[in-house]
Amino acid sequence: MSIEKAMEILRKYPLCDHCLGRLFARLGTGLSNEERGRSIKNYLLMRVHEKIISEGLSDESVNDVRALALSGHEPSIKFLRNLSIEISSVPCYVCGNSIFNRLDEWSRNIAESLRSLGVEYRSFRLGSRVPIDVLRKELNITTEFNISSSESIKRELNRELGKRVSSILGIQFSREEPDVETIIDITTGTITTQVMPIYIFTRYRKVHRVVNGKENTRWPIDRVVQAYSAQGAIIHTGGDDPSGARVLGNGRPAVIQVIRPGKRLDIKDVSPLLMDPSYDVLLEEFSYVKSSAITRVRARVRDYVITYRVLAIADDHVTNETMMSLHDYFRNRQVVQRFKHGHRVRRRVSMVYELYGRVIRGRLVEFLIKCQGNLYIRGFVHGGFGDVEPSIAGVLGIGIRPLEIDILNVTD
Ligand SMILES: [Zn+2]
Repeated sequence: MSIEKAMEILRKYPLCDHCLGRLFARLGTGLSNEERGRSIKNYLLMRVHEKIISEGLSDESVNDVRALALSGHEPSIKFLRNLSIEISSVPCYVCGNSIFNRLDEWSRNIAESLRSLGVEYRSFRLGSRVPIDVLRKELNITTEFNISSSESIKRELNRELGKRVSSILGIQFSREEPDVETIIDITTGTITTQVMPIYIFTRYRKVHRVVNGKENTRWPIDRVVQAYSAQGAIIHTGGDDPSGARVLGNGRPAVIQVIRPGKRLDIKDVSPLLMDPSYDVLLEEFSYVKSSAITRVRARVRDYVITYRVLAIADDHVTNETMMSLHDYFRNRQVVQRFKHGHRVRRRVSMVYELYGRVIRGRLVEFLIKCQGNLYIRGFVHGGFGDVEPSIAGVLGIGIRPLEIDILNVTD
């Protein structure tokens, strides 16, 4: 059993109660590492004592008690004193006894820095920077003695500091998605703190048509910043809208990242503030999400099914029959788009699932296109200077210029 290795380890390395206990952290749940280390040392002394009683004093037994005494085990120091041997403890091989006696001091300092942030928070996360030398010594012992029951000093430190800070401030420690984060460098005692952003999932619609080329992108960002007393806000959208396009129907998914929020509000209280029809971009369906939602919203664009309505003008007259023939041609059709990227050419493959075309009047035509979220719609209609294959213009054999683009639905 690995606990048998404790005496072997102490013969070679003097370890304080914390550092010895930590090697056996998986044994005896409910004990702190300090209690665990102390218990092991008590047990080892009792074992040597028993041996001395039954077999008499031996150099080996005295040396084992000496090793315990060196590690700072008071009962062993007293035991040797009764044998007229004076031993005083030496600094712990791993931590040098200069880490765990400062937990209270560091916790108070951390609590103070969090208080002085001047923002609302309900949970915090705590990390620590530990000198590489300490980590290396700890690793040496676990590899040398092949110990699998240990935990790292950082973990013990973070937990012990976390418990203390939590009780000083009366807030919860949270490993995942905390409101604030703090890191202490235990070499210098420097504390850095960070207010974590808030992430709001929403769907947006752009209901106004662009007038005189002016882009319709006035988002209620100022509202968000104001409501949260934040430093700023960033919008992450799931894909980009073609310029000048309206976004109708159920809207496009987006995540609003609120930077350094001063307040942590209930989403129910924020929603009415953000649903302001006087802005060009209308938001609805709010919920708090994790930071990973940004990556998800961006990565999933390929999986979106978007329905576009495109009003276009053809160079020549087209018949309704020709327009209707597009439906069969483009049913579940793969479209390849080529993008010049410096000297390299990138290919993007998208699916067109369904397409309806009709003549409105003269050369004015309208398309309903249901396609994969990553299709470059404008290029698909006009052929993108020969870089989209197949395109509507290419199939019809005439030039077609999109006039208005609307997104009617986004299925995500
Ligand atoms: Zn130690």
